[in-house]
Amino acid sequence: MKRRVLVIGIDSVPLDLMLPWAAAGHLPSFAKILDNGSHGDLYSRIPVTPVAWSSIYTGKNPGKHGIIGFRNHKPHTYEEVSVNSSIRDARDVWEIAGAHGKKVVVVNAPLTYPPRAVNGYLVCGFMAPGVDYEFTYPSSLGEEIKRAVPNYRIGTAPSYIKSLYLKELHSTVQVVGDASLRLLKKIDWDLAFIVFKETDEVQHSFFDRPGDVLGLYRRVDKIVGEFLKLAGDDATVLVVSDHGGEPINKRFNAAEFLRMSGFISLNTSNQRQSATPLQLVASALFGLRLEWLLDIPGSRRLMGEIMKARVRMLQKSAKPDQGFYAGQVDWPNTTAFISSGIGLRINVKGREPQGFVDPADYEAVRDKVAAQFAGLKDPENGQHVFRYAQARERVLSGPYTELAPDVMCLPNTGYLPTEALASFDPLAVAAAHRSLFSRSTLWCGTHSPYGMVAGSGPGIKKGEVSGATLDDIAPTILYALGLPVPRDMDGKVITGMFDQAYLEANPVTWEEAEARTEVKARELSDEESKIVEERLKALGYLS
Ligand SMILES: [Zn+2]
Repeated sequence: MKRRVLVIGIDSVPLDLMLPWAAAGHLPSFAKILDNGSHGDLYSRIPVTPVAWSSIYTGKNPGKHGIIGFRNHKPHTYEEVSVNSSIRDARDVWEIAGAHGKKVVVVNAPLTYPPRAVNGYLVCGFMAPGVDYEFTYPSSLGEEIKRAVPNYRIGTAPSYIKSLYLKELHSTVQVVGDASLRLLKKIDWDLAFIVFKETDEVQHSFFDRPGDVLGLYRRVDKIVGEFLKLAGDDATVLVVSDHGGEPINKRFNAAEFLRMSGFISLNTSNQRQSATPLQLVASALFGLRLEWLLDIPGSRRLMGEIMKARVRMLQKSAKPDQGFYAGQVDWPNTTAFISSGIGLRINVKGREPQGFVDPADYEAVRDKVAAQFAGLKDPENGQHVFRYAQARERVLSGPYTELAPDVMCLPNTGYLPTEALASFDPLAVAAAHRSLFSRSTLWCGTHSPYGMVAGSGPGIKKGEVSGATLDDIAPTILYALGLPVPRDMDGKVITGMFDQAYLEANPVTWEEAEARTEVKARELSDEESKIVEERLKALGYLS
């Protein structure tokens, strides 16, 4: 019997939204999968889209696959580089399946640009610069998709006008669905892996309007119904999300906390000269509660550009390795700084260009920084601001652990840390000089560390599973395809989803791991990174 596996990725969807809406009859296709199979929470250790999906694809923690954040630290500098598929140093599950002769269809999966070769078809997703670039494998597929699906696009053009943005989210979901249906009919596939990314954006911007969130889920559900028909009753269907979603109450200004705690030292004269005029404007906007003006696409970017130009003018001698902090930080007197958006890096002598902390004091200093963040409470309600702040080796393992921040932080429900001084975001700069906390205006929802998994199909029993993590998805896909699991994966087959008789008749098998082949790591060109970064900023993922 042919074993077919259909994976439906729904970015940022938590079970606590999916279950009640499915039970109420709003999402009949998802309800069919939930009613006939198993489901449970899916733990996401770093609930950041490119990082989390990379663990889903590879069965490995970020210390092994090498994608640490939207940007990775660039060793021996204060700079960061945007990540892309070529630096994911592990085979993706569809590459492993392809090596076993399985035909694959991969559509809109985040961080698959530049496209890597597959045994079938691949259409790049989130963080690809767009359809004017080589966005498919084989490359000829791109033209075919553009012809067949008018307005095919990768990701949305966000609008500050909510109704327009919502319309854009719906039409983007629809073109992804249309292209996917076309490819599912085009070949006799064994593994299809299709991701809807707009379910994430809708929760960031519309968490306070649940009807709009549900509306988009319903559109996805309708398309999933078509997928299920094409896949047939004998297919294994897995629904996965890379993390969950939850509301934001406040932005937390991590850089200001570092400054107040004495861990970051500012180059005060430069800071005053360079930032004051815009800070005044930004502070005035905050005072008048007009900070939302800064969220209008373009206005924040414009202010950022003016601020950058001013700093460049005032500091003709600025060293290039000052990176995106450009001139604001007094490095020789700074203990720790924000890194990869998800943690803190200690400014170690000999490792950082202008290190301050003696290597002999590293552990003690790191413990102190971690304790400061872990213990921090919101004075207004006594809540911890972070779920955890701990040494990176307690969260990650593998050769890329050293690329990660020394201290990894996971914010608590309700708090969205901003990179603040790490960027020229006037909104954040204004917040930095005002208080530790500010209102969140661009987003009302953010990521939580629990995504979901649901599965139905041959051998999958009805019920709930617990304890699954992102790393378990790739092994489970391979198992459902009847393939062995490479030994170097961190995850394991979610055996709790399958009934005993099936497990006995189909024992889990293992194979020696193979290295990734034929993919040369590269940095994106300036043009590609600029497009990707500007879009991430417009959407609110980077400040
Ligand atoms: Zn995500």
